Amino acid sequence: MTTAATAATTAATPAIDRPDVIIVGSGCGGGTAAHALTARGFRVVVLEKGPRKTAEDFLPLDELHFLTRKGLIPTVDIAPQIYAGVDGKQRVAVERWWEAEMVGGSTMIWDANFPRYTREDLEVLTYLKDVPKDASMVNWPWTYDQFQPYFEQAEHLWGVSGKTRQHDHHARQEPTRDGYEFPMPPLRPHASTEFLMQAFGKAGMKPYLGARAINSQTFDSRPACSFCGYNQFFGCAVNSRASSVNTVLARALATGRCDLRPGHCVTRLVHDNGRVRGVMYKTCPGGPEQFLGAATVLVSVQTIQSARMFLISEIPDPNKLIGRYLTYHTKGNAELSFKNKPVWDAGAAYQPRTAIGSLQLRDLYVIDDPGVPLSKGGKFSIYDPYTCTTPIRQIKGASLGKDRPNVWGTELVDYLREIRSQGGVSFSFTGEAMSLYDNRVELDDVVRDPWGLPVAKTYYRHHEYDRRLAGYALDRVIQVMTDAGGELRRYEAQAEANPGYGHVHGTLRAGVDPGASVLDADCQSHTVKGLYVLDAAFMPTAGAANPSLTLIANALRVCERVSPS
Ligand SMILES: Cc1cc2nc3c(=O)[nH]c(=O)nc-3n(C[C@H](O)[C@H](O)[C@H](O)COP(=O)(O)OP(=O)(O)OC[C@H]3O[C@@H](n4cnc5c(N)ncnc54)[C@H](O)[C@@H]3O)c2cc1C
Repeated sequence: MTTAATAATTAATPAIDRPDVIIVGSGCGGGTAAHALTARGFRVVVLEKGPRKTAEDFLPLDELHFLTRKGLIPTVDIAPQIYAGVDGKQRVAVERWWEAEMVGGSTMIWDANFPRYTREDLEVLTYLKDVPKDASMVNWPWTYDQFQPYFEQAEHLWGVSGKTRQHDHHARQEPTRDGYEFPMPPLRPHASTEFLMQAFGKAGMKPYLGARAINSQTFDSRPACSFCGYNQFFGCAVNSRASSVNTVLARALATGRCDLRPGHCVTRLVHDNGRVRGVMYKTCPGGPEQFLGAATVLVSVQTIQSARMFLISEIPDPNKLIGRYLTYHTKGNAELSFKNKPVWDAGAAYQPRTAIGSLQLRDLYVIDDPGVPLSKGGKFSIYDPYTCTTPIRQIKGASLGKDRPNVWGTELVDYLREIRSQGGVSFSFTGEAMSLYDNRVELDDVVRDPWGLPVAKTYYRHHEYDRRLAGYALDRVIQVMTDAGGELRRYEAQAEANPGYGHVHGTLRAGVDPGASVLDADCQSHTVKGLYVLDAAFMPTAGAANPSLTLIANALRVCERVSPS
């Protein structure tokens, strides 16, 4: 099932010894930069730590291998992250499940929810009333209007299915300009959609079909989604889900100006006298360090790793800000079942099986509820936990209520029979998080990875605001669902501790004030010229939506400004 897109990335690439630009990491930000810069005529080398994988490597769809044993992410025993707990006194070795190390990075295994960050996220101080005194919330140094053209470019480049302006009241959905439309119509809605729309409609709330970077029809030489059901943590074996590989990297490689080097781990950023000179890299653990020079280096290796790379490389940090203001989104989950909705009347209705979170609810993005001390909120992705989930996950998730989270044997059989006769809905909350100076990345002084580098150690504590927000938002949707006949089966609000979570931002904040930020407004280091960061480390605050589209839009914006000398 090789498509034109994968063929482009398996072809031999030209050897470029003296690149204009070195890009570290070939995922979301790195792949986008490779495209944007080669399109401008620059010659780039992309250094990627992981191997190349093709669509064939993701077959067969083996749930035990890919999901249970997490076959596509770094193993915790070899390259963990250390979590120091909320008090800094613990040492927990954490699996980095949010970082896929291969050509294409985490976009090879993602869920491809593709919402925009909005005015509420970039101008957070306008919407967040009564900022907690111990939180450092700042407006981003750009406006939503400045980002808008780059969102549009990104949505067409990566390929989005969806529909703009599904409701009269624009704030219900991410805003788009008049007359603008996504390149593809929405993915086929799940059978529960109409019922959920009605139930929330009665409560004055309006879910909508969210943007996905998954083809709903043939687009960019890639086929429409077949709804195989194997989505997050699985590679897409038919390339209907967009990745860096089958979109931006394929374009970059087609120019002949991109030298993609898998199996090249950058060990250090080389700089002197306030200028970047290139990078040191290894091609195998234990191997010799080698030098590659360029006047411009762009880093996109995910937030925690880019802070770690800055610390290892001793990037001058006069204000002690590198690694600080790490944010994870505030999260929460609730699951309900409906006896009166036998598997959403399956049979007559069609149910796409993509573990799908296309239905979104954004009515609590800004909270205006008298007496509730919350203002900046978040959004829900709405899933079907029963019919849209892979078999082992369904068994592992078996739940007979909050006091009996796991069941086995006869009880499990009864449970599986029961849920096949009921409709199910689960809500996954993504909310704003308070930025705290103490939430940070440091270098661990004990554990080293196979490349000989100290691993990252995180300190993280969710603010009281975050925890209240998750509880409030979950209670609001649970109320609507129980009014509609739902029975609550699972409830998980945000805890204070957070050993690691997929949406991760901050650590190298961008800003106009060199005294309060690590990167300037072009995401270039304040202290080392020619060194840029494209991953979500640049984000000054967490925002409240899946971050990748905004990361891509920012990469396109930055790459217009890069002028290799
Ligand atoms: C299961 C899962 C589901 C997700 N779902 C969504 C979603 O629905 N929507 C959304 O917006 N986001 C989602 N994400 C997050 C999304 O994938 C990331 O936000 C995005 O990929 C980050 O882009 P990046 O360029 O920073 O890193 P990546 O895309 O992860 O790329 C980083 C690359 O850098 C390489 N690298 C690391 N260190 C080095 C080094 N020292 N030298 C050379 N190369 C190096 C890595 O091997 C990797 O290939 C999901 C992630 C996961 C894991």
